[in-house]
Amino acid sequence: MQHSDPVREIVIVGAGLAGLIQAHALAAKGFSPHVVDPRSATALRQSNADTRATALTPRSIELLGLPDAWLQTHGQRISEMVVDGGLTTGLDPAKALHLDSGAWVVFNRDLVAFLLDGLDLQGTFGHAVVQSSRAGAHRVLHLDQQKSLRASLVIAADGKNSQLRRDEDIQRHERDFRQTALTGRIEHSQPHHGRAFQRFLPGGTLAFLPLAGAEQASSFIWVEPSAKAKGLFTLSADCLAGRMQARFGDTLGTLSARADSDWGQFPLRAHHCNTIIGERLALIGEAAHSMHPLAGQGLNMTIKDVDALTAVLVDQRRHGLDLGDLQGLTVYQRDRRAETARFTALTTGLHEVLDRGPAPVRALAATGLQLIDRLGPVKALLRGEANR
Ligand SMILES: Cc1cc2nc3c(=O)[nH]c(=O)nc-3n(C[C@H](O)[C@H](O)[C@H](O)COP(=O)(O)OP(=O)(O)OC[C@H]3O[C@@H](n4cnc5c(N)ncnc54)[C@H](O)[C@@H]3O)c2cc1C
Repeated sequence: MQHSDPVREIVIVGAGLAGLIQAHALAAKGFSPHVVDPRSATALRQSNADTRATALTPRSIELLGLPDAWLQTHGQRISEMVVDGGLTTGLDPAKALHLDSGAWVVFNRDLVAFLLDGLDLQGTFGHAVVQSSRAGAHRVLHLDQQKSLRASLVIAADGKNSQLRRDEDIQRHERDFRQTALTGRIEHSQPHHGRAFQRFLPGGTLAFLPLAGAEQASSFIWVEPSAKAKGLFTLSADCLAGRMQARFGDTLGTLSARADSDWGQFPLRAHHCNTIIGERLALIGEAAHSMHPLAGQGLNMTIKDVDALTAVLVDQRRHGLDLGDLQGLTVYQRDRRAETARFTALTTGLHEVLDRGPAPVRALAATGLQLIDRLGPVKALLRGEANR
């Protein structure tokens, strides 16, 4: 095992959205984080694999520092959210709930490109962390191929199955929804006019997010029990669009999918951890929490993790303190753990009532969504307001 490297100030493990957003935020404050990811630097830049689009709240846009000009080119402002309880054959806008929303829809891959363009990314790419351990005034990361790195502080942004979380033996509460989300792009013969749609159907949610620069295309998230989703994933583009049409109705006209469409599939599980810090360790993003996507809050929560952790580290540096100091990290934990645990519980509860709830509850939702309308926090959650 070589120890040729110096002890680095901050190493971020994982260059998914959480890791890149963290690297971007730290670089903006004059830090020089080192990033580790199993993908090569070229693969990170060229990756088209993430077919998802995300609805970013105004607070997230502000924290990310997304310029207006970039948003106008790459984003689509949601003019309203049209939500229904899914008891009718197709979505009927006259009977649905209409919520205003200040959110903007952006493709995950465009966000990755924005982050990489604004960053002189330094790191060790093409290598995964296989083990991490404490060693006095630093933490050692053991990588594959006999490499190692040392850091005063390690930020775990290595996703749901975080190796660093496992090495630290951090306990978590987990929930497997036994559902899978299919994601991708769908064309429609009628324009979206900036509207986002969400149907809470028996078995799962079907949502459309309006795409920028394409009035007749949306990004879809279609959640079904995993066994059924697996079957849908094997269908031809035409068949899939037909099945979707039967679930959604004709509010957006005729739905169609390009034959060469890229679709993603994501098994859905939620978790939150007993702690999101350890000795010289802080967890962010899906390493720390994941939640049902029906309220579109996971990444918005991550952006707030990054903001809170960056503020703590800036403060530590200002006072000449060790960045890995547990007392400082406790401030981050206090700031973020309770909120992410609450959101995880809230989105799981929403899934129980609206995806799986008994017919009378769903009927309430269908006839004007009085249920949602009366539950202030749930309404705010769907509007993305709860995250401001
Ligand atoms: C279907 C779906 C729709 C969603 N929609 C929304 C939405 O509208 N709004 C919203 O706010 N959120 C949404 N989310 C949540 C959001 O997409 C995720 O929170 C976010 O993408 C997770 O990012 P992450 O960087 O934490 O994890 P990941 O994307 O999993 O990244 C983890 C990174 O760590 C690396 N890594 C893994 N293991 C190691 C290792 N051992 N060593 C080094 N590196 C490692 C991986 O290569 C990867 O690059 C949605 C989620 C899903 C599933």
